[in-house]
Amino acid sequence: MGINGKTVSLGVVGCPVEHSLSPLLHNTMANLTGLDYTYCAYRVEKGEMENALIGMKALNIRGLNVTIPHKTEAFRLADEVDGAAKRMGACNTLVNENGKIKGYNTDGEGFIRSLKREGVDVKGKICVIIGAGGAAMGVAMALAESGAKEIEIKNRTADKADALCGRINKYYPKKAKRVEDVYDADILINATSVGMNSDLSPIDDMRVFKRLKKSAVAADIVYCPRNTMFLKMAGSVGLKCVGGIGMLIYQAVAAFERFTGKRVDETIVDALYAMTAMKKNIVLTGFMGTGKSAVGREIAARVGMRFIDTDDCIEREHGKITDIFKEKGEKYFRDIESETIKRAAKEQGAVISLGGGAVLQKENIDILRQNGFVVRLKADIDRVYKNIGDNTDSRPLLSGKTKDEAAKLLEEREPFYQNCDAAIDVTDAEKEESAGAILDMYYEHCLGEALE
Ligand code: NAP
Repeated sequence: MGINGKTVSLGVVGCPVEHSLSPLLHNTMANLTGLDYTYCAYRVEKGEMENALIGMKALNIRGLNVTIPHKTEAFRLADEVDGAAKRMGACNTLVNENGKIKGYNTDGEGFIRSLKREGVDVKGKICVIIGAGGAAMGVAMALAESGAKEIEIKNRTADKADALCGRINKYYPKKAKRVEDVYDADILINATSVGMNSDLSPIDDMRVFKRLKKSAVAADIVYCPRNTMFLKMAGSVGLKCVGGIGMLIYQAVAAFERFTGKRVDETIVDALYAMTAMKKNIVLTGFMGTGKSAVGREIAARVGMRFIDTDDCIEREHGKITDIFKEKGEKYFRDIESETIKRAAKEQGAVISLGGGAVLQKENIDILRQNGFVVRLKADIDRVYKNIGDNTDSRPLLSGKTKDEAAKLLEEREPFYQNCDAAIDVTDAEKEESAGAILDMYYEHCLGEALE
């Protein structure tokens, strides 16, 4: 649906906000429901929330999600708040009802709905939360509200755990207590930021997972990477695992429902899950010096995917590529390159950067496309030389060539890229910009497959 004069505006305010997944989730929901809404990210600096809300009213923006650092300020500024927001003292959703701002907090609801989707009912359960920050509070209040039997809080800073328990017990008497360690839990939750873009777990002792009952569930609210170390450790002893992407999706779903007054169908939620699953690899191909590795690393870091550079893999196993070319010839190199690519193609949810000539063998791209979204990075020869600098000697096929000869080689390669899923011109783009654009295409591609 195109944007027109009647399209209703929504958005997210935060600082930083540029990497937020909310625009993707909300605009997809608007498209799939056929509702005439559009959703943007607005960078609002600290201390500017009051002005932002004046703007929201003046521009008749229907709804805003609120993220770091404005959630408590949004609570203070809202004209009216619901129970969940009041218990937390923070709003993540603001709805403009004819100039009156109503505040909600959908984080906890998102968590509970993500558990429900996996068949996990919290009623009567002993829930242990690691962490005592803002997200832990949302999770804890929602667990109490949904009938959890007992809530235990374990946190690095004991004072913060005590403060959170105090707040929970104010609304749900005797429900929460601070603990030093985890012994018994029906549901064990990581609500710390440990594991975000790293392979750390807030519990690094396997014995903790081993002593839990077999029916226990481990839930992480960290969603980047999707399969965190905490979940890997829990999964290794057979515990059921629930990842943080579900909470992210359902808090957005719950907010969208507040904005539009319409329930979002579970088939649409299924599509959001498939779109953000990142099971498919992202494969970057293109001429030497188009910045495949730099862009690939940027994508991997941004969304917590594993990064594989096939040239690096070859050099680790077989020595320097320039030496392989010199001593054994190009054919020998292409054969080991194909073997390396075959192995990389078996990965799930990795970013794979290929050597410039990998595209010459059609089988390489065919096998990568079986579980990968293959994107060609395109740049003119000046950008290629700018990226490579004077270092043409490390590129056997450019060594000793003039720029015109290199441009000819680039032209000759053109037909080989026809087999890719998508192409992006990176001639004038910074790596951050290219990474964002590739991720947008990737999500759209995964959504398309989910809806097939
Ligand atoms: P926060 O308010 O800053 O709280 C961070 C928590 O993590 C605190 O309990 C802190 O302990 C703990 N922590 C941080 N580093 C630690 C370390 N090295 N060792 C042990 N504990 C550590 O952050 P938040 O807003 O609660 O967010 C926490 C995480 O949840 C973030 O990664 C965020 O992205 C994620 N999140 C996910 C969703 C979702 O929808 N899935 C929603 C909200 C947040 P101390 O008190 O000792 O500092």
